[in-house]
Amino acid sequence: MELKDVLKKEIESLAEELIELRRDFHQHPELGFQEFRTSKIVAEYLRECGIDVEMVAETGVVGVLKGKSAEPVLMLRADLDALPIEEKTDVPFKSVYDGKMHACGHDGHTAMLMIAAKILAKHREELEGTIKFVFQPNEEDAGAAIIIEEGVMENPKVDAALGLHLWTPLQSGKIGITAGPLMASSYYFWLTIKGKGGHGGAPHLAVDPIFCGKEIMNALQSIQTREQDVLKPTLINFGQFHAGTNPIIISHQAEMAGSVRCLHDEDARIRKRFEEIVSHVCNMYGAEYELTFKCGNELLDNDPDMTELVKRSAVEAAGETNLVESDLTVMLGEDFASFANVVPSAFCFVGVGDATKSTNMPHHHPEFKLDEDVLPLGVEMHVRGAMAYFEKFQK
Ligand SMILES: [Zn+2]
Ligand SMILES: [Zn+2]
Repeated sequence: MELKDVLKKEIESLAEELIELRRDFHQHPELGFQEFRTSKIVAEYLRECGIDVEMVAETGVVGVLKGKSAEPVLMLRADLDALPIEEKTDVPFKSVYDGKMHACGHDGHTAMLMIAAKILAKHREELEGTIKFVFQPNEEDAGAAIIIEEGVMENPKVDAALGLHLWTPLQSGKIGITAGPLMASSYYFWLTIKGKGGHGGAPHLAVDPIFCGKEIMNALQSIQTREQDVLKPTLINFGQFHAGTNPIIISHQAEMAGSVRCLHDEDARIRKRFEEIVSHVCNMYGAEYELTFKCGNELLDNDPDMTELVKRSAVEAAGETNLVESDLTVMLGEDFASFANVVPSAFCFVGVGDATKSTNMPHHHPEFKLDEDVLPLGVEMHVRGAMAYFEKFQK
C-alpha cells in the first residue's frame, strides 16, 4: 500500500501515542537551551524509528532519514522550548515545574513531528529524497540562528524547509498559509537617556531624562504614521520605561526598551531613522543617549512555490473549505524565518482555536490550551508536505 492511501489510517492508529507524547512534554516544560529531558526523549524515539540522530547546540536534535535517493534534502522543523510562565490551566497534565509552561504549543509541535518521523521512516523506500527532522532549541529567543551557525543546514545540505505552528487565533481544523511576508521581523532596542539630575523645584538647572524620553516616544510614532508606507506595516512598541526614585528629585537617567517590528524588508532603514530621531530629540533637550539593537527575528517570507505545495497538502489533508489564505499576517515573530532566509521555505498555521473547548486563548497566555483533536492534522501536514516536495522535485 502506498503511503498516501494509508496515511490517515496510520496516523489514527498512532493518535493515542501522539497525545501521550504531547502531554508528557506539556507536563515537563523546559526553557530555551535547557531542553535536556525533551531532546533525550526525541533522540531515543528517532533512533528507535531507524533514523540517524545527531545533536546540535547541545539540546537540538537532528534526525536524517535517507529515502530511495539521497537528494533532494527537505527539512521538517519543530521547536522544543517552553516559556517562563506560571501555568494557570486546569488540565490534568499541567506543568510540574514552577514558572515554566508550554504556552506556545511547542509541546504539540514536537509530538507531531515525532509521529510524522515514525510514519515516514516506515515508508522510507517510497521517499524520493532525504528528510532532515530538526527539533530546534530556544525558538522563543532566536535559537535557529545558532543552530544554523553550528551547521544544521549542511551535511547533508538542506534544499528546502517546511514548518508549521499550532495557532489559536485560527479556528480548529483550518490551515492558514499565504505566500510572501507572513510574520514580522523584530529588533529589540535598549535606550538609555542621560540627563542631569537635580531638584524637582529647579528643573531649569537639570536635564530631565523623563521629559526627553516621552518626547522620544511621541516623535518615533511619526515613523509609523508619516514616514513609512502604511501598507507596509511597521510597529514601534515600548515595553519598559524606568526612571527616577523620588517625587522631588529629577532623575539623572531614564531607561527605555521595546521592539521595532516590520512586515516588509525595509527594517534597516527604519532602525536608521529611529536613531536619527532619538539623536535629534536628545540634542534638543541637551541630553545624551546610548542605543543598542538586537535582532529578535528576521522577516518570515514564504516562498511562492513552497507555499503552493503546502496549499495542496492542506486541501488533501483538511479539504478545500479549510484552507485559509487571508487575514493571517501578524506582527509577531518566528525564528523559522532564519531557515527561510537560507533555502526556499514555507510556514503555515494549523488552527487550534475553539471557544467551546476554551482553546482560544492567545499564545504565551498562562491559560493557553491546545485543541488536541487537531494534532493528527499537523502530523498529516508534515507527511504530505514531504511527499509533495519530493513529487515536485521528480517532475
Ligand atoms: Zn511563542
Ligand atoms: Zn511558538
